[in-house]
Amino acid sequence: MTDIRRYIEEVYTKVQARDPQQPEFLQAVREFFNTIEPVLVKYPELIKQNILERIVEPERIIQFSVPWVNDQGEVEVNRAFRVQFNSAIGPYKGGLRFHPTVNQSIIKFLGFEQTFKNSLTGLPIGGGKGGSDFDPKGKSDGEIMRFCQSLMNELQKYIGSSMDIPAGDIGVGAREIGYLYGQYKRLNGSENGAITGKHLLYGGSLGRKEATGYGLVYFTKAMLEDAGKSIKGQKVIVSGSGNVAIYTMEKIKECEGIVIACSDSTGYIIDESGIDVELIKDLKEVKRERISEYVNIRPEASYYPGNVWNHRITYHIALPCATQNEINKDSAATIIANGVFAVAEGANMPTDLEGTIMFRKAGILFGPAKAANAGGVAVSALEMSQNSQRRCWTSYEVDNELKKTMENIYGQIRNVAREYGVEGDFVAGANMAAFTKVAFAMEFQGVV
Ligand code: NDP
Repeated sequence: MTDIRRYIEEVYTKVQARDPQQPEFLQAVREFFNTIEPVLVKYPELIKQNILERIVEPERIIQFSVPWVNDQGEVEVNRAFRVQFNSAIGPYKGGLRFHPTVNQSIIKFLGFEQTFKNSLTGLPIGGGKGGSDFDPKGKSDGEIMRFCQSLMNELQKYIGSSMDIPAGDIGVGAREIGYLYGQYKRLNGSENGAITGKHLLYGGSLGRKEATGYGLVYFTKAMLEDAGKSIKGQKVIVSGSGNVAIYTMEKIKECEGIVIACSDSTGYIIDESGIDVELIKDLKEVKRERISEYVNIRPEASYYPGNVWNHRITYHIALPCATQNEINKDSAATIIANGVFAVAEGANMPTDLEGTIMFRKAGILFGPAKAANAGGVAVSALEMSQNSQRRCWTSYEVDNELKKTMENIYGQIRNVAREYGVEGDFVAGANMAAFTKVAFAMEFQGVV
């Protein structure tokens, strides 16, 4: 073992000893540490500054209670977090997630990943993430509003357009952002650069809603074209049917790919004639129904309970857009056996470590989340620019910037992988490119 590898493993052992009960966070750190050794070999001064140990420790973690009153007049209480992970490149930036599984491990893994994703965009934003174990499913609009207001009563002390700028994530869409911003404004006055993902009527950006999904497809297109392939005519499976999944499907259709399946947390639908994206939008965005409703309207489609990645069917491109660890080694084996040649991650860490290694060994083109799904945060940063300029850009301007950003990210990670002798390993390319920037930004600012 080289001295540098020993240093990496020693830091990992410390992280494990500090937070042994945080499996998702440890998984994200492990995956990252597996790939960044060549950067430390090239720049040993980063070891002298102990950048690795500093980079895995969040700058600040805030945990607070969120008491709220349900429609029956009963008082409930949830737990919320904001992890301000790293501000070397700019103010903390990252979404809020409302889901019953939310805990400190999940928010820390998301904040860690966000730091590097934001670095890849080339924009001046640091990494943060937050959320609550509140479950928005089945709650009335009034309950959602009261919960969001209570959460913001506390969160507003720690955020602001130059400090920390939250946005949406799982369970936090336009409705929740509206209630959160409304309360923020009541307490602090109009400062619409303090939250992104806002409605167009009060400072939102055209193209933000679509950005993560469209960005994922722009990234996938760049990766495929570089390998002499195209989306046109290919069969695609997208998991999830939320914000990222819907706009991924819409853009795939525009590129003449055929999306044959999508899912939610209970099951999935297969429609070999091509998923009707407008119908999914109506069911999920407007009516907030389960995905199984689709087959009542399109009887030629089929519904199956379980995980879409375990289904045996021939297709070519897999775009996981639901949640972490939805693809494990068994589902990865099924995906490979189904004939898939490209996987790009819309969700954060949807493929576990074993799955990622299997894809690489099988020669599958693999776009890791921190690169492939950076379009959402990139357009959030554009929303911040428009807010400070007091301007609204056209959708053409925003989409053009998004496309350029995703193509740049792809080019960047491909070139860095090549430079360090691991051509085609976009996981390593993304980690090394992102790490180098954050690490030097930290070094240049001293030990603070
Ligand atoms: P949404 O809440 O809009 O949609 C989430 C989708 O994933 C739903 O279909 C949901 O099903 C499904 N899902 C959630 N949890 C699980 C689970 N445990 N098992 C199976 N399916 C599940 O969230 P987004 O589309 O915004 O986010 C999806 C992913 O993309 C997340 O990993 C998020 O971190 C990531 N992401 C999002 C960005 C954004 O801009 N929104 C930016 C970058 C990354 P159900 O309705 O049944 O819960």
